[in-house]
This record gives sequence, structure tokens and C-alpha cells, in this order.
Amino acid sequence: MSSGRNTTQRNRDRYRIRATHAACGICGDTIDYTLPHTDPRSFVVDHVIPLAKGGPDRIENKQAAHRDCNSTKRARIIAPIVKRSGSLH
Ligand SMILES: [Zn+2]
Repeated sequence: MSSGRNTTQRNRDRYRIRATHAACGICGDTIDYTLPHTDPRSFVVDHVIPLAKGGPDRIENKQAAHRDCNSTKRARIIAPIVKRSGSLH
């Protein structure tokens, strides 16, 4: 399965980014890496150039971010796309 290999690579990138204990690439605040993944301030991997915008799924395009920062950024990027495709109806 090609998706299996992809997931492994993603996990590896995630581990490498987590190991740097970097600050959030979106808001610049530090991240508490001990928080459970359900916490809005927990660590997630953010794509600097979103996949939806054609960004590569590679570590060079990934950074640490807070979960809530990531979802805010995602909403800002996805919303115009939904709006545009909605106008096709
Ligand atoms: Zn943040």
C-alpha cells in the first residue's frame, strides 16, 4: 500500500519536528509539547504552503504549530476554495 509508506514518512517528519521543540510557526508562541492532542494549544504539524495550495508533503514544507492556530489558518485557506466551487452550482 502506497498510503502506508506515506503515513510512515509523515510520522517520521512529525517526530523530527516535535524533537526540535520549536515555537508555533503561525503565532510565534511556545508550544507545550506535553499537552494531549485534543487540547487546542497542543502541537500539530502545519504545512507552510498548504497541501490544498499545492504545497509538497515534505519536511521542508512543515513546521510546528498550535492546533487552534492550524485550524484557523486552514479555515482561512479552505473557505475561499469552498466559496469558489460553490459558485459553480
Ligand atoms: Zn500558535
